[in-house]
Amino acid sequence: MADTKKIHFDSKCVHSGIGEYEFGPVVPPIYQTSTFKFENTKHGGALFAGDQKGHIYTRMSNPTVEAMENSIAELEGGHKALGCASGMSAINTTFSALLEAGDHVICSKSVYGPTSTLLRTIFSKFGVETTFVETAYIEQIEDAIKPNTKIIYVETPGNPTLCITDLAAVSKLAKSINAKVVVDNTFMSPALQRPFEFGVDVVVHSMTKFLNGHADVVAGIIVVKDEETYKKFRSTLNQLGGVIDPFNSFLVHRGLKTLAIRMEKHNQNSQVIAEYLEKHPKIKWVRYPGLKSHPHYEFGLKQHKGHGGMITFEVKGGFNSGETLMNSVKLCQLAVSLGGVETLVQHPASMTHLTMGKEARKSAGITDGLVRLSVGIENVNDILTDFDQALAKIEIKEEVEEM
Ligand SMILES: *Cc1c(COP(=O)(O)O)cnc(C)c1O
Repeated sequence: MADTKKIHFDSKCVHSGIGEYEFGPVVPPIYQTSTFKFENTKHGGALFAGDQKGHIYTRMSNPTVEAMENSIAELEGGHKALGCASGMSAINTTFSALLEAGDHVICSKSVYGPTSTLLRTIFSKFGVETTFVETAYIEQIEDAIKPNTKIIYVETPGNPTLCITDLAAVSKLAKSINAKVVVDNTFMSPALQRPFEFGVDVVVHSMTKFLNGHADVVAGIIVVKDEETYKKFRSTLNQLGGVIDPFNSFLVHRGLKTLAIRMEKHNQNSQVIAEYLEKHPKIKWVRYPGLKSHPHYEFGLKQHKGHGGMITFEVKGGFNSGETLMNSVKLCQLAVSLGGVETLVQHPASMTHLTMGKEARKSAGITDGLVRLSVGIENVNDILTDFDQALAKIEIKEEVEEM
């Protein structure tokens, strides 16, 4: 077997995490079993005591799950990883492992909705207080620091503003106050951004998105830097129970093999589409880290190896125009989630954030015409043709006062 520590990232995607198995398969078999036989009581005892390596029960560990975990730990440049049932399970397990009553968290304002809700509704019940700030501005984090601040939680680029946070600066600040930095790296994946290189402590992902990449699995992962943290997190995950199963691990591990090549295509297609939208007369604004008009464009170049597959933009003419676009696309599909091989569009004002009400949407920065696009790996000309015909259906009357 090749020493995967010494090969390039795209080769690691193909080879990392794969061990030796009976009959010599080139991919890890699916060990679809809940429990593992002991040779005798002495063997069982040794496994429980940790004196001997092996598997006991699939909530605790499983070879198919471990293969996928080892692969992602290597791709992120971490020590070990913990496969979880969903991205939210990974985030919940991380908070549960690191926090206790009386602690304080600083969290990015533009963060995945349920992450903010988890902190505001569940962890607040157990005495954890959270301050939400725009982490792209380090002064806002500094101003929010309290003596009991234990975690600075960052999503970069943030959803849906695609604001970019300086991970090295946040890590330095966190070290000075003895807090941990947790980064949700879902939008970039380790192919484009490796937070540990900037001093971050814990990386979490929704593997549902780019890591698996095929819109057929819900899963999450936590990556840590040292054995002590790993043991603490493993024990927390084992008690909370939100583990990934062997079959989903197999699918994610298969998806990882094409991560580098998929991300390259997501980057290429997104750049072309973002530039096309920016020039289009019916588009009001476009936000993409690869556009010079992005407020953190220059800085992003230092932190990312590519600008990713997520674009947000606004159609002129508000709600009706957004709705017309959504209902007119044919190749692009109208669905939430992101990071798959297929292009997905969603219109928060008429879909995910409809029940939130106009006022609440306004304060969250979700305008009526805002569209979120997850660019797939189709031929870019087919995506452009689809946008051309859909945008042609929009009739812009008077530019109405929007919100
Ligand atoms: C989807 C998502 C999550 C939650 O992941 P699930 O797998 O749906 O639980 C967390 N963070 C980000 C940035 C996401 O896009």
